[in-house]
This record gives sequence, C-alpha cells and structure tokens, in this order.
Amino acid sequence: MVGEVSNQSTGYCPDISSWPVVAQALDRAGLMRPSSSTRAVVFRRCPECQERNIVREDDFVCVFCDSELLTAWNVDCAD
Ligand SMILES: [Zn+2]
Repeated sequence: MVGEVSNQSTGYCPDISSWPVVAQALDRAGLMRPSSSTRAVVFRRCPECQERNIVREDDFVCVFCDSELLTAWNVDCAD
C-alpha cells in the first residue's frame, strides 16, 4: 500500500502533470494508491537568475531574485 506520493525530487523535477504516469506505474505494480498526488510540488525555473524554485500557494515569484515566474512548467533538470 502506497499511502503517500510526492513528486518532490531533487534529481528530477517533474511537473504535477506527471501524476498519471506515477499512478499508472503503481497500478502496473499492483499497488494500492491514493487517487491523486498527495503532495504536489510545482517546480519553476526563474527566467532571470535560472534558480529552481518550488512554487508554494500559487505564489509565482522567485524566492531568490523576486522575478516573476512563468505559470507554465519550464524546468529541465537535465542540465
Ligand atoms: Zn530568480
């Protein structure tokens, strides 16, 4: 039984839209799972300072330089 799922990951920064993929993987493994991601984490890369931010409470402002963050997912953690 998987009681809690979080997409918070420092190595890979999926958007909350990755949940269906996680759910599918759990289903395939035959695991019980919650019906939605219990801890959705929204990642955004700051267009100004390039720092990765975790957006909290829909506050799309860079915590590092106060720049406005994009509402669309733009984080590519591969670099
Ligand atoms: Zn910034």
